[in-house]
Amino acid sequence: MSAVATPSPTVPDATGHFGRFGGMFVPETLMAPLRELAAAYESARTDPAFHAELDDLLHNYCGRPTPLYFAQRWTELLGGAKIYLKREDLLHTGAHKINNALGQILLARRLGKKRIIAETGAGQHGVATATVCARFGMECVIYMGKVDMERQALNVVRMRLMGAEVRAVTGGQATLKEAVNEAMRDWVASVDHTHYILGSALGSHPFPMIVRDMQRVIGVEARRQILEKEGRLPDLLVACVGGGSNAIGLFHPFIGDEDVRMVGVEAGGEGIIPERHAARFQGGKLGVLQGTKTWLLANDDGQIELTHSVSAGLDYAAIGPEHAYLHDIGRVEYTYATDAEALAAFKELAHCEGIIPALESSHAMAYVSKIAGSLPKSSLIVVNLSGRGDKDVEQASKFLL
Ligand SMILES: *Cc1c(COP(=O)(O)O)cnc(C)c1O
Repeated sequence: MSAVATPSPTVPDATGHFGRFGGMFVPETLMAPLRELAAAYESARTDPAFHAELDDLLHNYCGRPTPLYFAQRWTELLGGAKIYLKREDLLHTGAHKINNALGQILLARRLGKKRIIAETGAGQHGVATATVCARFGMECVIYMGKVDMERQALNVVRMRLMGAEVRAVTGGQATLKEAVNEAMRDWVASVDHTHYILGSALGSHPFPMIVRDMQRVIGVEARRQILEKEGRLPDLLVACVGGGSNAIGLFHPFIGDEDVRMVGVEAGGEGIIPERHAARFQGGKLGVLQGTKTWLLANDDGQIELTHSVSAGLDYAAIGPEHAYLHDIGRVEYTYATDAEALAAFKELAHCEGIIPALESSHAMAYVSKIAGSLPKSSLIVVNLSGRGDKDVEQASKFLL
């Protein structure tokens, strides 16, 4: 690998820059609390008691380590590379989101915060946050777009069942971007007693770093597991990219392994037509959205464009700043899968492995389905199965049955 493709070990820098991306683009009132959060995280990161409590909960409450499963029938069907699935779908609450929610609620307790807020798109992060709030007896308010509440009604019931208040957000497209705005507004007014559990590797520093570090457990485990099973590192890692937390979690522990190729798969929606997709590296531009400078979808006037994806969890106009950086230096490749390709992969995995993937994860599966047959049988793919598809069955049935 060329020197330029080796990420600096010091990213992000002290003010949260990953190369020319990241930073802290927030109202002045949030600067001090964000610095306080960064300091609390720095002390937690080096505190064995913090890690002992987190590890215990990840194991006994959430079910870590998750298996690395050899998908034998899928491998045979595609006829090329050997495919392993990292089974985040088996984690408590059904997706990788709880790794981060758990880590952040422990930080909130260290900061003495009594109230938790969060935003959610598909509802998976809202469910993970409501779960850890119930577990620790904390007040919990979840902001969710009205349209998403209708699309993901079951997750709204789950959150309320666990004691969270779900507040419907009606402005604009009434989806994730508007929910984030409302959560930010709440936080500005309540920050002395409230922690905002941001759900992806996005937003102002220190969130992209904290979320990445909480999700790194995926890649740390996958690395150990593939070495146990195959005696060597994989040739290719694949993950879907919404904000980018499951992907950075899988990729990060392998970044220094120059022979490991990494591919992030964005939502291609109905194809790369303005407002009909959410693939930020296909026609996106550099800009600032909701706290961070990164690659995003905007029109020529800098207005954020509408986005579309069959999966609510990938339907967002900006990508996490560390992905923008890894794209810049050429360490990670980014591609996209369309709605139709993701739905086909959803069905394919269900049929041949008896595993129903989340529609988000199905984008990663679609890329594997496309490429595995062209790779030699001796090559190894690890793909992140970021969540289970139970939440998506009703929506998919409209397309598939
Ligand atoms: C939220 C979600 C995603 C997308 O978020 P990232 O931060 O990009 O990981 C992907 N898969 C599942 C199952 C999700 O719930």
